[in-house]
Amino acid sequence: MATIVGIDLGTTNSEVAVYDNGKIEIITDDDNGIVPSVVGLDENGTVIVGRQAMNQALVAPERTVLSIKRRMGSDAVIELGENTFSPQEISAFVLKSLKQRAEKHLGRPVTRAVITVPAYFTDVQRQATREAGQIAGLDVVRIINEPTAAALTYERGNTQTRQLLVYDLGGGTFDVSIVKIENGVVEVLASTGDNKLGGDDFDKKIVAELVTHLKNKYGIDVSGDRFVMARLLRVAESAKCVLSTEPYTRIEEDHLTQKNGQVIHLSMELSRSHFESLIEADLSRTMQAVTRALKDADMLPGAIDQIILVGGSTRIPRIAQLLEEKFGTPPHGEIDPDLCVAMGAGIQSAREMGLDHASVLVDITPYTFGTSAIGEINGEPSMSQFVPLIRRNTKLPASRSEVFYTLYDNQEAVDVTVYQAKSPTPPTTSFWANICST
Ligand code: AMP
Repeated sequence: MATIVGIDLGTTNSEVAVYDNGKIEIITDDDNGIVPSVVGLDENGTVIVGRQAMNQALVAPERTVLSIKRRMGSDAVIELGENTFSPQEISAFVLKSLKQRAEKHLGRPVTRAVITVPAYFTDVQRQATREAGQIAGLDVVRIINEPTAAALTYERGNTQTRQLLVYDLGGGTFDVSIVKIENGVVEVLASTGDNKLGGDDFDKKIVAELVTHLKNKYGIDVSGDRFVMARLLRVAESAKCVLSTEPYTRIEEDHLTQKNGQVIHLSMELSRSHFESLIEADLSRTMQAVTRALKDADMLPGAIDQIILVGGSTRIPRIAQLLEEKFGTPPHGEIDPDLCVAMGAGIQSAREMGLDHASVLVDITPYTFGTSAIGEINGEPSMSQFVPLIRRNTKLPASRSEVFYTLYDNQEAVDVTVYQAKSPTPPTTSFWANICST
């Protein structure tokens, strides 16, 4: 059977894994296997991907696309040099580069893949991911949720029944899932989060501090200068990473800009405690989601055996502190939080090839699906109403039957519309999105 690779197509970084001799291997290529999910055009108009594209993001932001995953499933038109692309086409460049990396490593063509997506991705976003795979020449044999993949990685070799909480905070998305592992069966009991929250937001908060500092110290407003802002974003991200291990850092960038002919150098100290205060509201939101996930799974914190940290942003020490305060036990991050999801995708790809039958993957829908129908009040037709059929957190695959009646005698046709909740916890019926009509 042709090799199937496992791909973590991340907002910030992507990785490709392959099952080899009972082990999952992250494919490296003179690097650590972490490929920035960045696409660009070089000076000659050639498409470049990964580290090379990342390196030019600073000097040529107009020729570089970052965080495309945030726009997957949208109608966005991405301008790159003279050309325009859909989000799927941009993602396909990243996938193609991972495919080539795998082919170079294996020495044979790779045409099939398992790809992970955030649990929060809608059907449209999942479909867009499949399309990106097709454009890259990959048959996407399965799409799995990132927290599910992470749990698969931790579950390997463990036969005990355990309930895990997977806290996944990456560059652009946050997911929290409660996963039960029993007799080798992985079941996602609940999944919630925020698909617009991640380390990118923390970087922007540091950049805002830097902009204010420059305004106060030199009376200049750099916020309209794309080139300067790109440089500030780069130093902000490095400072954030340093603060995960150090209590203070000095953010410095020489020759940042000029004012009235005078060269301005940036130098500002940032403490971990100040950084934590900048992101405290965001982290509180993630903890509220943790509470929501527990409620959805009908569990108390004491029922969780293990907390798994996934995603680069979980290296921020405050996150482990908050989780330990809530659960009374420190979270686990033994498996590299950047590679954990890709490894799970690799495990799933092995199963798809029939190589690892140890456990069966059970997935859930984070959204409610339903249709609309006209009700009756005092025998009179009332307004069209949403009728939920497959509720969020239902195990997939799922099917539901419901009897509806036609409105008129001898009616020959009905228009059936399927709606998906736009948010996992829709506050009103206006939060439903039409996904298909027949
Ligand atoms: P991912 O989407 O899982 O690849 O995570 C990428 C995010 O993790 C980016 O926002 C990185 O800046 C962030 N990140 C990586 N390493 C660290 C670190 N040591 N401390 C804080 N954030 C980090």
